[in-house]
Amino acid sequence: MPDAETTPEAAVRRPDGVTPRAAEVLPLSADRLADIIDFLPDATMVVDRAGTVIAWNRAMEDLTGCPAGDMIGRGGRAYAVPFYGERRPMLVDVALGDRDAEALYPELQRDGDTVMADVVHRQADDSVAYQWAKARPLRDAGGAVVGAIETVRDVTDQRRAEQALRDREARYRLLAENQRDVVLALAPDGVLTYCSPAMREFGGYEPDEVVGTSATDYMVTDEDRRGVADSIARVVVTQKPASVEFLFRPKHGDPFPAEATGNPIVEAGRVVSIQSVLRDVTERRQAEEKVRDLAKFPAENPGPVLRIARGGAVRYANEAGRRLLDGLGGGPDSPAPPAWRDEVGRAFADAQVRRTEVRHGDRTYALRFVPVDGADYANVYGEDTTERKRLEHELRRLAMIAEQAAEGIAWADLDGNLQFVNDAWARMHGYASGAELVGRRLSIFHTDEQMRKDVLPFNEGVKHRGQNTGEIGHKRKDGTAFPTQMIVALLKDERGEPYGLAAIAQDITERKRTDRALADQKAALERSNAELQEFAYVASHDLQEPLRMVASYVQLLEKRYADALDDDAREFIGYAVDGARRMQALINDLLTYSRVGTRAKPFAAVEAKTLLTDALSNLEVAVRETGAEVTHGPLPRVVGDAAQLTRVFQNLIGNALKFCDGAPRVHVSAERDGGAWRFAVRDNGIGIDPDRRDRIFVIFQRLHRREAYPGTGMGLAITRKIVERHGGRVWVKAASGGGSIFSFTIPDRKEPADDPPNPDTIADADAGQAGRDPAGGRQPRRHPAHAGGPARG
Ligand code: ADP
Repeated sequence: MPDAETTPEAAVRRPDGVTPRAAEVLPLSADRLADIIDFLPDATMVVDRAGTVIAWNRAMEDLTGCPAGDMIGRGGRAYAVPFYGERRPMLVDVALGDRDAEALYPELQRDGDTVMADVVHRQADDSVAYQWAKARPLRDAGGAVVGAIETVRDVTDQRRAEQALRDREARYRLLAENQRDVVLALAPDGVLTYCSPAMREFGGYEPDEVVGTSATDYMVTDEDRRGVADSIARVVVTQKPASVEFLFRPKHGDPFPAEATGNPIVEAGRVVSIQSVLRDVTERRQAEEKVRDLAKFPAENPGPVLRIARGGAVRYANEAGRRLLDGLGGGPDSPAPPAWRDEVGRAFADAQVRRTEVRHGDRTYALRFVPVDGADYANVYGEDTTERKRLEHELRRLAMIAEQAAEGIAWADLDGNLQFVNDAWARMHGYASGAELVGRRLSIFHTDEQMRKDVLPFNEGVKHRGQNTGEIGHKRKDGTAFPTQMIVALLKDERGEPYGLAAIAQDITERKRTDRALADQKAALERSNAELQEFAYVASHDLQEPLRMVASYVQLLEKRYADALDDDAREFIGYAVDGARRMQALINDLLTYSRVGTRAKPFAAVEAKTLLTDALSNLEVAVRETGAEVTHGPLPRVVGDAAQLTRVFQNLIGNALKFCDGAPRVHVSAERDGGAWRFAVRDNGIGIDPDRRDRIFVIFQRLHRREAYPGTGMGLAITRKIVERHGGRVWVKAASGGGSIFSFTIPDRKEPADDPPNPDTIADADAGQAGRDPAGGRQPRRHPAHAGGPARG
């Protein structure tokens, strides 16, 4: 679009147009001027006093894409169009003194009458172009302004690089300020330009005092200083990272081994700075020294030690090394496995130690390939890491278990900040996952009240004993409370210093509920049992008095009016007296039964022989009347309630005498049975129907009619209750050759220690009755009609 006033072809070459004026500006020929301007590496334009373009060089054509022919001779600020897409003032206008133009460049810089500015253009494709523009007025010999020259340099790449550098710097700084290792920046000459705050802890120096000093100021030996200087030089020359180890000199205290790594920051093909990380390698050194010590005696080294030539031949292998090689299908003088050859090659290429791992059978070895400077081989040091691997594996397994356990598992540091929470714990507390809880505090799982009542006292226990178990109230995310069974243990490091807490929690809401239900049930049962027992006792006790009255008055009637009564009346009176007596016997037995648990005496040691003698003396009449023969074997000493045990013998022997159709032969014996004595009472009586053996131990259960054999059906029930109170059991078997054997056990006890509880809940209102029959035992009761002898058939 040629302007009306000028012709595009008004190049500097036109002698009658622009050229004469250019010649005025510079005392040079127009051609010469054009050449020089064209030659300038920066995009350059020249305008005259009126703002008409009189020069537009090649670099400008390249930058703008606008040929000189289209621009030369044009005024009206057409030069701005390739830059801004519109006519507007540019820096040349500022140089020519245009005040309005100046307002467009707020960051304008001046140097004499040169003006400079950063310019940002948003380009058609929305990308941003950065330019650095510089303009200056041109003056004639008299100093009058005759035009202006402007150069524009594209600095987009440079700005981008700077921005990237700034970002990276910010990033590094963030890292640098937050780690234990010291981060340093060095100029290529080794002067420190940055030092992270970790230096205070690391070496006792303030970062400020380090900046400006030389990296080589912190070594102890000249050799180390040279090593560091060489290493810096190597980074600068090779532009590759390098590391160097040396003895670091802290501000106070003993020097210690340290390692510094250097990373080159390259700009425009030159190393402008070195980023360095400085770390304490005391521990690593010690470990390596150990390996090195061992390496001096490779034959004695329990780990594999080998020497492998660059070409791959194995030059040396100690015992463990040979085993490893054999296992991998190689041997001395044969080439090393290909993977090892690669490692050797790479170790030499990088001039660095290479580490790798190899499995052989069930063992794992960590191998270090150390290239030997100036030699054609690498030394290989192996370490058996099986155990370490196993531990790592175990740890991972434990972590997995913790992760997936059904119990809630969590651990926290000593301040209560959660470091691990499994999903079960999270779910129990109403959170979605364990991961979201890491970093929160343990206290979020308790209400203030739970904290005060449960957690603080519980934690005292953890503090004092190292661990504690108990029930603790917890809180869900929604604020609801629930009970847990907690185990909390203090975690200690290898020196025994506590560093955290591990907690296992189980939600026991359900268990609590069933516990409560069970306790309720038990209480209800105990209540009804006590009521029943009291009822049985009161009933039988209260019945005795009226019964005695009935019996005695009926007997009185018989005595006084015997003559006035006829046979029928006497017979009826006989039945009445008999009924009253039987009822008395029943009530007596019931009372005895109900007292087995409640009127018990404390256990004491007693000779079974004594018990038997007492029982027989109570049975004296029956023994005499039946002509029975009662014998016994050796009898032990037992611990129990003597009165009750006498009753057991009395009931069993009494039955033996009663349920016998001939002359009773009874034998009592005792035998060891594990931790108990087993007693047996054997008779030659009528025997017992095997199908009904169990029934006879139940109250009021009898196998015969009262007319055949008298009794209440209570004797064996009382016997069983007594034996069970002593922790034994009772049973019956058929004796060979007819008759029965009743057996019962009495467990051994320490005398007179473990006394069973004696819940004497019912007051003894019947002392007189008990006094009359101290053993509470029964005489075999006789039917009044057969009072002269044992009842038969
Ligand atoms: P009672 O002797 O008052 O009938 P027990 O409870 O002592 O009550 O005995 C219950 C039943 O067991 C007896 O009625 C009898 O049928 C049977 N019995 C008990 N001891 C013997 C025995 N030594 N021989 C045969 N039967 C027996």
